Order: sequence, then C-alpha cells, then structure tokens
Amino acid sequence: MVESELTKRKAVITEEGIMTEESTTLLNGSSNKKKIKRKLHTWNEIPEWQRDNEYILSGYVIETKSLKACFDSLFYMHNESVNIYTHLLPGMSFLSVILFDHYAIKRFTTTTWIDYVMIDLFFLGGFTCLMMSSVFHCLKCHSSEVAIFGNKLDYLGIVAMIVSSMVSILYYGFQGNKPYFYVFSGLTFSFGVGCTVASLKERFRSREWRPFRAGLFVAFGLSALLPVMAGIMYYGLEETWSRIQLKWLILEGIFYIAGAVLYGVRFPERVAPGIFDIWGHSHQLFHVLVVTAALCHLRALMGAYELYHLQL
Ligand SMILES: [Zn+2]
Repeated sequence: MVESELTKRKAVITEEGIMTEESTTLLNGSSNKKKIKRKLHTWNEIPEWQRDNEYILSGYVIETKSLKACFDSLFYMHNESVNIYTHLLPGMSFLSVILFDHYAIKRFTTTTWIDYVMIDLFFLGGFTCLMMSSVFHCLKCHSSEVAIFGNKLDYLGIVAMIVSSMVSILYYGFQGNKPYFYVFSGLTFSFGVGCTVASLKERFRSREWRPFRAGLFVAFGLSALLPVMAGIMYYGLEETWSRIQLKWLILEGIFYIAGAVLYGVRFPERVAPGIFDIWGHSHQLFHVLVVTAALCHLRALMGAYELYHLQL
C-alpha cells in the first residue's frame, strides 16, 4: 500500500522567544523536517553587541549562533541582504576574470606574463575585498566573536583592494622609471601594513572610532596623490594624464570619498530613521560607490595597459 503524503505546518515559539515556522513533510514513510527562522527583529530587541547604527530600527536577524542559519539568511530579505549581494555578485565577476584572464584581457603582441600578473593583482585585491565584505555581512549575525573576526577580515579586504589598485597602476605609470615604481610601491605596502595593524586593534573597532576608521582609510587612498605629483614633476601633466588615465583615477577618488563620507555620517538614515532599514541606507550606498570606484580604477588600468603596448 502506498502511504499518503502528509504535510503539517505549524508556528512555534522556541525557548529564545523566536518565532519559527516549522514545516514537516512525511512522504512514503520518510520524514524531511526543515525549520526556517525568518522573524526579523527591531533595534530594541537585539543584544547590545549587535547594535551599530541606531538609525536602522528594524530588519535585524537576531544572533543565530549557527553558521547554517546565517547561510539561510541569504534567501530572505533583511537589513544586511543588500550589503551582502552588492559585494558578492561583483566579487564573483572579478574572480571569473582572473580564471579566464586570457580571454577577458585584450592581448597585444608585446603582452607578457607580467601584464597578466599586474592586471590579475588588481582583480585579486578586488575579489578579496568584495568577498570578505560579503562574508562579513552574512556572518555578522552569528555571534559577537564571529562578528568581530569578520569585521577584521572586512578591513583587511579594504587594505588588499587599495594596495593592489595602487601597485597595478604604478607599474604602468612608471614604466621606464623602475626606482619610482619601487619607492611608491614600498610606500603603499608600508601604509597597508599600518592600516592592517590599526584594523586589528580592538579599540579601533568601536562605534566611537567610526570617523577615525573612515579617515584613516581615506588618508591611505589619498597617499596616491604622492606618486601622481611625482609623475607630473617627472613627465609633465599631459603625459601623466594619459599614462595613468588620470581622469578615471580622479573619478575613482571622488566615489571612494563620497562612500566614506556617507558611511561616516550615516546619511540618509540619519534624517529619517527606520525608512531606509532594508533599502537605501548609508552602508549600502557605500558598497555601491566602492564597486563604482573599483570599476573606474579598472577603466584606468586597462587604458594605461593598452596605451603602453600601443606605444611599444
Ligand atoms: Zn560593508
């Protein structure tokens, strides 16, 4: 005799007071039990360690203590969903360019493996930054310890992005002037190490240090002005403008700074708390601006690479 299919659905309140929807399906004697935790919480309901932005009032996934529950949160909307996907999808695109670089990157007769290393370096830095960010935003509801660890990874990813962006464009900017390339690459690495150390310090993570965090990374980014000034003194403005596609690098800087400012002042949620919880709050705008800035850098890098090989 064939057993009939029986499906029961019921809502239960667990010990932690979390509303769960429990769906139990019995089919041909086997049971497949799945629990979906989808109840979102408000600022007042979440524990102190989860509180970061008091202008985001709802849409929180409360502490899960479960990697699986964090993973499941990828499949329903909450106030980190847009933060996760705005970096996950571009991050995967960057990885695919590295895997298929011989197809994705225009090839000249003078192109060598060093060109692939330099261009892939940028994509690797971008991939690291975007993936660490989306992993952090996915896991930050796990527990205080995991959130702290993920936050450090997030900062390390930003350092990787800045270092790889700078070194790759310096390579083409200072073709024919290796000492300048080594000096400014060394300076970039030193800044990167300094930012890494500062990112790993506990005090640096706190809410009160938010403007300092943003400021330190902007200063790191602005240190890019030094090799640009050196280039202008050495080659002149016109030559520098085309060598490193300066127009795109200026746009990149504007997007990064705009993102950091929004992140620092928490606009627009500051002026209308609760309205931008799921869509449109400052961190989401910051993510979109970071990706836009990275694309400007990519445009500059590819322009510099092509120009260099066309002139050989
Ligand atoms: Zn983020």
